[in-house]
Formats: sequence, C-alpha cells, structure tokens
Amino acid sequence: MKIAVIGAGYVGLVSGACLADFGHEVRCIDRDLRRVEGLRAGRMPIYEPGLAELTADNVAAGRLSFEHDLAVGMKDAEVIFIAVGTPSRPEDGHADLTFVYQVTREIAQNLEGYAVIVTKSTVPVGTSDEVERLVRSLRPDVEFSVASNPEFLREGAAIGDFKIPDRIVVGVEDERAREVMAAVYRPLFLNQAPLLFTDRRTSELTKYAANAFLATKITFINEIADICEKTGANVQDVARGMGLDKRIGPKFLHAGPGFGGSCFPKDVRALIKTGQDYDVPSRIVEAVADVNERRKRRMGRRIVAACGGEIRDRIIAVLGLTFKPRTDDMRDAPSIAIIQTLRDAGGVVHAFDPAGMEHAREVMGDVTYFQDPYQAVAGADAVAIVTEWESLRALDLKKIYGLMRTPVLVDLRNIYGPEEAKAAGFTYIAVGRGDLR
Ligand code: NAD
Repeated sequence: MKIAVIGAGYVGLVSGACLADFGHEVRCIDRDLRRVEGLRAGRMPIYEPGLAELTADNVAAGRLSFEHDLAVGMKDAEVIFIAVGTPSRPEDGHADLTFVYQVTREIAQNLEGYAVIVTKSTVPVGTSDEVERLVRSLRPDVEFSVASNPEFLREGAAIGDFKIPDRIVVGVEDERAREVMAAVYRPLFLNQAPLLFTDRRTSELTKYAANAFLATKITFINEIADICEKTGANVQDVARGMGLDKRIGPKFLHAGPGFGGSCFPKDVRALIKTGQDYDVPSRIVEAVADVNERRKRRMGRRIVAACGGEIRDRIIAVLGLTFKPRTDDMRDAPSIAIIQTLRDAGGVVHAFDPAGMEHAREVMGDVTYFQDPYQAVAGADAVAIVTEWESLRALDLKKIYGLMRTPVLVDLRNIYGPEEAKAAGFTYIAVGRGDLR
C-alpha cells in the first residue's frame, strides 16, 4: 500500500519506518526542512534504539522516503496518517490542535482521490469528527474517510511496541475505512496482535484513558511510598507484593520522582479538560495531576534536605535528565522542576545524561553539563540520580565517593540499595524506604 505519514517525530518516524518494514511504500513528510534533509542523509533527528538501522534498511529497499512538500508526499497515498504534535495549550492545558488542523487543511487541498485520513496523534474526543467536517467543507467533491488510530508506543522501546503491540485500536465510521485499516495492519496479524475496531470517539478516548490510568498507577505507588517513609515500610517490597497479584500487575509500580515526558502530563491535562467541558469532572485524574506536579519540586527539596537544608553555592550533581531511560526526550521531565528547585535554593547544578543533554540545554538555564558521570560528581556536595539509565545502574560508588566533597547520594529511582551505598561510605536517601530510618 502507498502510505503517507505527516510529522516525522517520535511517532511519525517510528510508524513510517515500521510500516515500510511491513512491506508498504511509505513517505514521511515533515515541515522542518532540516529534519527532512538530515533524514535523507541518514541522520536521525531523535534518539530511539534501532531506528537508524530500520530506517536505513527500508530506505535502501526503496520503501521509505522523506518529503518536505506535503502535496508531493501525499500524492497517490491510500492512507494518510497525521502524526504531528498535540502539546498542551499554555492558557488552559487542553490539547493544542493547531498542527492537526493545519495539516488537515493541507491534506484537503491536495486530495485527488479516495484516501483514508488517520489521526494517529493523540487527540481529544471529537477531533476526528472535526477533521472530517473540515475536509468535507473544503472538498465536497472528493471521497474520503477519517479513522482514528492512536499510538501506544513507548519511547525507548518504540520499534518493538509498534511491531509487537499489545493491541491496535482503530476507530472507524464506515466499512471502507475499516477494510483499508485492516490491510495496513495485516502483516501484524502474524504476531497475533489484537486489532480492536471501535467507533472513532471510543478510539480517541481509549488512548487518554490508558495514559491516565498508567499515570494514576505511578502516582498511587508514589503516595504509598510517602506512607512507607512515615511508617517504616519498604515501598519496593510493597510494590512487589502488590504486583504479583495478576489483577494488578508489576508494571508502573516503581516509586520515583513523579511521571513526566511528552505524553502523560499533557494527556492527563487534556483528559481533565475534556471532563470539565462535558460537565463530568474526573476527580481521580485531577488529583493525579495535582499530586504529581507537587511531587517534582518536593523531590528537589528532598535533595536540599539531604544536604542539611542549605545548598547555597554548593555543587549538586544530577545524573539522568530525560524523563526515562533510552530516550533523548526532555519534554516535561521531572529533572526540570527538580533542578529549578535546586537553583532556586542557590545550588550550583552539574549534570550528566547519556542522551538528553542537547535538549536539556534548550529547556534549562545555568546548568553545567559533563560528558561522563564521574566528571559531573567531582567536588559535589550531593549526587542525585533522577533517571534510571542502564549506564547509571552500575556506577563505581567507591570512585564517586573519592571524587565528591560530601558523600550524599539521593537515589530517586531506588537503583542502589542502602547496603551498597553505605558500604561505599555514602549517606543514602532513597524513595519510600521508611525501613532505613
Ligand atoms: P514530535 O514533536 O516528536 O513530532 C512531530 C513532528 O511533526 C515534528 O517533526 C514537526 O516538525 C512535525 N510537524 C508539525 N506540524 C507539521 C506540519 N504542518 N506539516 C508537517 N509536519 C509537521 O511529536 P511526537 O512525540 O511524535 O508526537 C506526535 C503525536 O503522537 C502527539 O499527539 C503525541 O501525543 C502522540 N504520541 C506520542 C508518543 C511518544 O512517545 N512520543 C507516543 C504515543 C502517542
């Protein structure tokens, strides 16, 4: 099939490369000319394990190409995926659909024959209806369908998630679109991936409900961690004891500095807005957003407290900046609020991240970046681990001890146990470890 994917970001690029790998002929279109030129030259605009190889293979096989001009890119496409960003609107937190509607208008102007227009971006309930209305008003002369097909991939594991998904949700309102979408994903039937067809509004809401639920699970265990700290319990064991229950499951039960990233915070905010707009406020989700927001700065204050409550002109080393490992994405990362808190308290921040420092520079001022964790901790009064990157899981603690001015380790991801940290000479502070008191 001939497929156009508009937006060559995390979702568009991964979707495009994977769909090409299924055997489809895919054009990825992006309005960012530098991005398109880079991709044509084999440079990945994002860090995602395996993506460079997959892209190169499919470009070499002639199934994947990159376009700047949307009209050229979507020519003859039977399916057109919209995979542009839907960030939070600064005014009210709802999803900003400017890019989605911009692209919709451009698609309408260039439609030549029947195509299925697919909203793959995460969009509020009713957006696909609006896309249909807009295209019909601009082009009453052409036949087309609109489908919703939200993406559930995780950054850092995106290719595996796309190729072996837990499920694919497709919202359609007509049989023709259903057949076309089934054909797009037919190669995945071999992997027995459940393809769930729903109506469009259900499909759109499923994405928000899934993300809000996962965010709730994280926030729940974080609150349990707080209770553990006050009561002398160990949150890691509590989570294990909960997670072995098949009704609960072990995932997303890791206490830490709060959730972040390009999806959970904005999708939680957008779902709250949808609830309010329809006069059915979602109080659980509102509490999740509120609790999580406060938690990030609280974790900053935890670092200050670990230094005796005073960090003016002291060096705090922050290891791990991205919202999770195996991505370079800094959007809404907890490290931003944590570092802001440290700087507000007069601290000097030295930072290291294996992949996120370039983007960190764009969102954080007055931080000194280092190319390796040992350089970052040199002369520091405390070191805080904020992201559980593999390379930060096996640090030589004795070496770090030797490099620091004051040996304080604030492990916001519970990577190192108290025994290991104490054996290396550290004062050790973790999350939800009331048993360490
Ligand atoms: P992104 O910001 O990485 O990429 C979006 C791309 O779209 C950019 O390259 C931008 O230049 C391009 N673009 C914007 N307007 C355009 C236009 N008019 N024409 C052509 N290109 C245009 O975004 P992302 O992280 O890939 O997210 C895309 C959507 O997918 C969002 O709705 C997001 O919520 C959703 N999503 C993201 C993830 C994730 O892990 N990142 C997972 C699931 C769903």
